[in-house]
Amino acid sequence: MADYKAPLRDMRFVLNEVFEVSRLWAQLPALANVVDEDTASVILEEAGKVIAGTIAPLNRSGDEEGCSWIDGAVQTPRGFPEAYQAYAAGGWTSVGGDDRFGGMGMPKVITAQVEEMLNSANLSFGLYPMLTAGACLSINAHGSEALKATYLPNMYAGVWAGSMCLTEPHAGTDLGIIRTRAEPQADGSYKVSGTKIFITGGEHDLTENIIHLVLARLPDAPPGPKGISLFLVPKFMVDVNGALGERNSLSCGSIEHKMGIKASATCVMNFDGATGYIIDAPNKGLAAMFTMMNYERLGVGIQGLSLGERSYQNAVEYARDRIQSRAPTGPADPDKVADPIIVHPDVRRMLLTMKALNEGGRAFSSYVALQLDSAKYSEDAATRQRAQERVVLLTPVAKAFLTDMGLETTVHGQQIFGGHGFIREWGQEQLIRDCRITQIYEGTNGIQALDLLGRKVLGSGGAYYNLFADEIRQFTATASADLAEFTKPLNDAVKTLDELTAWLLDRAKSNPNEIGAASVEYLHVFGYTAYAYMWALMARTALLRQDQDVFYRTKLGTARFFFARLLPRVHSLAASVKAGSESLYLLDADQF
Ligand SMILES: Cc1cc2nc3c(=O)[nH]c(=O)nc-3n(C[C@H](O)[C@H](O)[C@H](O)COP(=O)(O)OP(=O)(O)OC[C@H]3O[C@@H](n4cnc5c(N)ncnc54)[C@H](O)[C@@H]3O)c2cc1C
Repeated sequence: MADYKAPLRDMRFVLNEVFEVSRLWAQLPALANVVDEDTASVILEEAGKVIAGTIAPLNRSGDEEGCSWIDGAVQTPRGFPEAYQAYAAGGWTSVGGDDRFGGMGMPKVITAQVEEMLNSANLSFGLYPMLTAGACLSINAHGSEALKATYLPNMYAGVWAGSMCLTEPHAGTDLGIIRTRAEPQADGSYKVSGTKIFITGGEHDLTENIIHLVLARLPDAPPGPKGISLFLVPKFMVDVNGALGERNSLSCGSIEHKMGIKASATCVMNFDGATGYIIDAPNKGLAAMFTMMNYERLGVGIQGLSLGERSYQNAVEYARDRIQSRAPTGPADPDKVADPIIVHPDVRRMLLTMKALNEGGRAFSSYVALQLDSAKYSEDAATRQRAQERVVLLTPVAKAFLTDMGLETTVHGQQIFGGHGFIREWGQEQLIRDCRITQIYEGTNGIQALDLLGRKVLGSGGAYYNLFADEIRQFTATASADLAEFTKPLNDAVKTLDELTAWLLDRAKSNPNEIGAASVEYLHVFGYTAYAYMWALMARTALLRQDQDVFYRTKLGTARFFFARLLPRVHSLAASVKAGSESLYLLDADQF
């Protein structure tokens, strides 16, 4: 496998040249003195070095060795504890953390790039700090000041880790039916009892304590999602001075043996009257979780992009090196017995598909991260609200489309290696195995599609959709004539999406099955259109600078490939949407 190289040039292009993030930061008092273009550049460069040098080398050995469970204790693969401590000591677990509790306070658009690098290098490793960062977000947004002061500093410092305990054996997508209970105690704490499964980082040997956020029901809770509360349950109790005390009554019953992310411990967690503290008000647990989910779902989308990027880097090197057959137009390298496979149209198709989807995904995830930053930091209420509405609309697209494209790109990356892609030695098959979970956890991609179409688009009567579509329409209406090769097909894609949205708004009134029947294909039309917008924005910058550097000419070439070869996929997807739900119900359940 090629050594991982952080795509810093492309990250700088997206941040500084396409979105001009430093202008935005300068306008936001909360960020103006925290970050500028130079600081961001240094952070990304240093992150790239540490991640490529320390974390990437453990990817293959971590996959080979996996985690082990002995009498309730979980051992991560060799090298993981030391690497985690080095990563934490470098301050990397605190990049996005609140500076009042020892975090670096960097905006999401910066942490998104660090996450991309970390997950490209080693997704299993990246999950431990990611779950911790998610738990910190929920505590910071909804916990009491006492909980924040007690737990956040050590969590940001990477001395303690976090986990998110939602799923139960009988309750995955449908969290409204969870059974874990929390009994109030006289001192204001709770006794939490129940079994959670599939808990990432529920137990491990990387940190001295693990802070679990657990969804549970109070005795008098109403049934369904409105009766769920959120509790902070530490592995080791923490006294008033922050020192670790006795072990809480919770344990790891076993770990799962999985298809991929083998170095990430996926745990069964048993809570047996464990002491916990409520986060937010009773029965507000799911709402408190949702604060974290928009960040976490974007983070999972970025995981798909990360693996696609890693696979691409390997595939390019291989395609330049491997010689097989002659170019259709005649020998490209007559001194050798055959040409490098990069000359073949089909290999170029796969490489360009990977490149266009990865770079489109990087721009799109950065765009969504910028909306999260505006929603959090803007001083203007209307700007905050518009940004929040975009976040709400685009989060399911970012989670599902980036991970679906992540699987497509990792499979192309395997195919370019031919038979060598199928065997372990080259590492391409691990990327596919690792990528597959990104389409499943944090809400399956089918559920993300339902969320987009049912709750966000139709649920707002099309208003959220129009907010985004209007932004694209405004861009195409004001773009200069030399961008027409990009803005015209972009406009056509938006028109297709407009038509589908109006058609579904109408059809769903009389038949609720239409939403679920159309949602996955609708999300994909949405995703390709969003990427087309990103590619048009990138092409605008690249056109202006094409004489300066080959980087911009490469960008333009990739943009042209995206519009010529990938955007037309919306036509067949739109036809599937319009076919409606009838054909899905021609068979009775016993006919399958
Ligand atoms: C490796 C790994 C790590 C994980 N980490 C965590 C973690 O840290 N914390 C945690 O709490 N959980 C975690 N999970 C759990 C994960 O989030 C769930 O597996 C996921 O949300 C799906 O739930 P489920 O497996 O119960 O599937 P189900 O909910 O049973 O779904 C099965 C299928 O039915 C579909 N389906 C269900 N309901 C509907 C519907 N209404 N409409 C249409 N289709 C529907 C789904 O899309 C899916 O295809 C992890 C899982 C794995 C495998």
